This record gives sequence, structure tokens and C-alpha cells, in this order.
Amino acid sequence: MGSVVRITIYAENSSALPAAFARIRGLDEKLSDYKPESELNQVCRTAHDHPVRVSADLFRVLSAARKLAGETDGAFDVTIGPVTHLWRQGKTPDAATLARCGYRNLVLDRARRTVFLKLAGMQLDLGGIAKGYAADEALATLRAHGVKQALVAVSGDIAAGDPPPGKEGWRIGVEPKGGELLLRNAAVSTSGDTEQFLESDGVRHSHIIDPKTGLGLTSRVAVTVVARHGIDADALATAISVLGPDRGRALLSRHYIRLMAANERE
Ligand code: ADP
Ligand code: MG
Repeated sequence: MGSVVRITIYAENSSALPAAFARIRGLDEKLSDYKPESELNQVCRTAHDHPVRVSADLFRVLSAARKLAGETDGAFDVTIGPVTHLWRQGKTPDAATLARCGYRNLVLDRARRTVFLKLAGMQLDLGGIAKGYAADEALATLRAHGVKQALVAVSGDIAAGDPPPGKEGWRIGVEPKGGELLLRNAAVSTSGDTEQFLESDGVRHSHIIDPKTGLGLTSRVAVTVVARHGIDADALATAISVLGPDRGRALLSRHYIRLMAANERE
């Protein structure tokens, strides 16, 4: 996923760390669109002919992505791959490239755990959601090894467990001017074009694409989302970057209300 992973733990020893890093490496093999032989890319090559059964990890991430696409009218859309791959080569997409995108062309079957791609030449790109999920899963791996006081950072996508000894939470600085957060058993992600951007005709475009136009954002936004899980924080931060402040806040309040309802049921 092209990221540096940092794990901080408080524990008797460091024996849980290799398992956590191995979990992330395993997810990279499944979810990366940079690796030609990743499970994701194999699915992109074969799932147009017939539905393809996929790993539980890939299905989980695709399901979450598909759901958020529906909720954001496609502002968050992992079928944007043909466009992001062109941008990576410094090229702006044409109409034919955009025509190969669209989340409605991604068909998931939960019972069979299969993926079907309706159009030829589709490419999935999980860059806006996979790092948050990887952070969650590394934290879960540590917990399974008895390590609860842990922090996992996959680039800017951070998942926190129990706080360090004697502390209220993990202190996380938010760039560029968000101040400091105190986090425990929660996740935070920051998206925007302050770190990564692509230049075209002298204009700075974000690596976050507005699927409606196929162009990288130029609004110089930075969005930080705190959520229970990294998969949600990561995807929501990317989605809200595209939606902008008003539609972004509306999306967040809908999520918040649903979350409160779920908590009450529990
Ligand atoms: P970062 O990679 O800096 O953590 P994000 O989490 O916002 O930032 O992810 C940006 C990545 O998401 C892009 O590099 C691309 O792979 C993918 N992407 C770009 N635009 C969209 C979009 N509209 N919906 C979903 N994923 C996107
Ligand atoms: Mg993201």
C-alpha cells in the first residue's frame, strides 16, 4: 500500500509485533492495486467473465466501500481505478476511461462471497480505505496476542487501543492546524491534498478524484475523521474531501445518528 507502518505497544516483550506486521503484509498482498499479482488485481482481470469468489478480507473492504458509494452518490468510489492509474502517469482521463468506472458496475454477492464486474476493463483502487482497515486488523492481531495498549499507524491512518499506562489516551497531532487529539479504542484518518498531489498544466491536483469529473480535487482541503474503526475513518475522510464541508457534515451526522442507534441496541 506504499506506506510506512509504525506500531507502538506497551507490553512485557515485543513478541506480538511480528504477527501484527505479518497481518499487514498479508493484507497488502490482497488489497494493493500496485502489485500486479495481488488478489485485487487478479479479480480485476477475471471478474468480468464470471463472478469470482474472494477472501473474507477483500469482500469486507469491498462491501464497506460499496455501501459508502451508495450513501455518497458515488463521491467515494473504488471503481475509479482506471482514472487513478492514468493520473499516476501524469495523464488526465478521457471520456472512454471514465466510462469504465462507476460503483453500480461492482456487483457483490454476500452469500457466495463473490465479486462481479459488469464492464470490461474495470480497475478497483482501495487506496482510500485499505490502510484504515489494515490498521484495524493489526490492532486486532495485537489484541489476540494479549497486547491491548497499542497504536498502529499506517501512514496517516491510525488505530488506537487502550491508552499507555497511566494516560487517558494516545496523543495524536492533527496536521495542518487541527491541534491535538486524545484517542483510545478509536481511529483517526486525515485526507486531503496537503501531502500528496499531482501537477498538471501547472495546477495542483489532489490524488483524490472527484468521480463526477475524473479530475483530482483542487480545493486544498484537509479532512480529519475520528471513528470507532479505521476502515470507516479512512473511507469517510476521503469521501468528505470530495463532498466538501456541507454535504460532508450531512453525511457525518447521518453516520453519527446510526451509530448512536446501534449503541442503544447494544
Ligand atoms: P491517503 O492515501 O493520503 O491516505 P486517502 O485515504 O484520501 O489518502 O486516499 C486517497 C486514495 O484513494 C487515492 O490515492 C486513490 O487511490 C483513492 N481514491 C481517489 N479518489 C477516490 C474516490 N473518489 N473514492 C475512493 N477512492 C479514491
Ligand atoms: Mg482515506
